[in-house]
Amino acid sequence: MCVIEAVAEAALPIYMVAEEQTTVSSAKVIALPTCTSCNRSITPEEKAVRFPCPSCNRVTIWRCEVCRDLSRTYVCPVCGFEGP
Ligand SMILES: [Zn+2]
Ligand SMILES: [Zn+2]
Repeated sequence: MCVIEAVAEAALPIYMVAEEQTTVSSAKVIALPTCTSCNRSITPEEKAVRFPCPSCNRVTIWRCEVCRDLSRTYVCPVCGFEGP
């Protein structure tokens, strides 16, 4: 009985540490890139693409999975280049 109680008490702090780590990783979500076409945040799970602007090469264009599927156009925020 005493051993089981000791294990249960020891498990609680471990669970709380895991929760803190989850909070830290979700805080990084704020720094996610946004899709150049639809301005939506891009999650690491989706099949988004990024590439340098083919016109000015000074900015990274992000396209989310949805915009790739719908072949939406993007506009470079630096030089105004518009392309698929
Ligand atoms: Zn998009
Ligand atoms: Zn550009």
